[in-house]
Amino acid sequence: MSSNTVSKTSTTDPHRLPNFCAGPAAIPTEVLARAQSEMLDWQGRGVSVMEMSHRSKDYMAIAEKAESKLRSLMAIPDNYKVLFLQGGASLQFSAIPLNLLNGGPADYLTTGAWSGKAIKEAKRYETLGLGGINQVATGKDSNFTTVPAMSEWQLSDNAAYFHYCANETIHGLQIFEPPQVGAPLIVDMSSCILSQPIDVSKYGMIYAGAQKNIGPAGLLIVIIRDDLLDQASEWCPLLLNYGHQADKESMSNTPATYSWYLAGLVFDWLEAQGGVEAIGQINQQKADLLYKTIDDSSFYNNPVDKQYRSIMNVPFTLANSSLDKTFLEESEQAGLLSLKGHRDVGGMRASIYNAVPLEWVQLLVDFMIDFENRYA
Ligand code: PMP
Repeated sequence: MSSNTVSKTSTTDPHRLPNFCAGPAAIPTEVLARAQSEMLDWQGRGVSVMEMSHRSKDYMAIAEKAESKLRSLMAIPDNYKVLFLQGGASLQFSAIPLNLLNGGPADYLTTGAWSGKAIKEAKRYETLGLGGINQVATGKDSNFTTVPAMSEWQLSDNAAYFHYCANETIHGLQIFEPPQVGAPLIVDMSSCILSQPIDVSKYGMIYAGAQKNIGPAGLLIVIIRDDLLDQASEWCPLLLNYGHQADKESMSNTPATYSWYLAGLVFDWLEAQGGVEAIGQINQQKADLLYKTIDDSSFYNNPVDKQYRSIMNVPFTLANSSLDKTFLEESEQAGLLSLKGHRDVGGMRASIYNAVPLEWVQLLVDFMIDFENRYA
């Protein structure tokens, strides 16, 4: 047992522990408490949200409110549609070429595991003859610790779109500014959406799985500019067709109603925190604290080029990897959950999404310093 046992901590519930899971990830305690209070009887209707028709007036109001909250939090311009879909971010790896390749070519930047999966899937449609898929550059030679210089990118002339991943959840590498490439930017923001203010008008389409900064798994959000809605190939399944889903207000079939409702509660919570600007400042403080602890020590290491270090996912290794198991066992005994790194990178990873307060990161840092003092 560590000498640094963490007392159970949360602003509102003494049973909840600091959770650094990469996803499904921590959800604000206040949101879960509100969902709990509304679980059996939503606003005096005698049913749970889960038991309502998605076409009922009550549910439509829940759905519309969630969308308008998201629009206001992200200042989404009117010429963008917001879709609440299913299939996770991974299904978008297929939906994107099926909707947007349109003869191609399309450019893809590979900066880690997730953008790597996206291009691999897109290549299947190249084989079908939907258009060429061009990898502009890959960070593989650096083990995805940096982004290849833009001067080396092999951009296509007249690309239908440019795909990249703004935050590589596994490698802890984040691209903070949208690349200026000309083609419409299609960006995977699964693990960084709502973490900092962005200018939506710089993107053609933003997509994100919900299970990190939005709510429970099962929901996928697409924010797409109107002019990209009607380009789908005839091979595109109806449910993946952005234009069709926009026409049907994401209710072509039964949507993930409860996840959508919960996302709305998370948006309410985020608004109460002061919105994306305010949470962005806290996120920066959390990341700075953790990276400083790592950089101040020769016991811990993070290999990512400093300008691209993720403020959401912080992987770190121990100089002596034979201590990994002990670190993980002791941190868990101390009440710090889900710090195991992804097998591709090894070591540890702390995911510090919006719902992870600064106090949890402080507890982690205190544990890390104590562990180093005992084992270095
Ligand atoms: N993209 C990124 C950046 C991710 O982090 C993940 C999941 N961790 C995915 C895509 C895949 O998401 P899903 O499991 O919802 O398909």
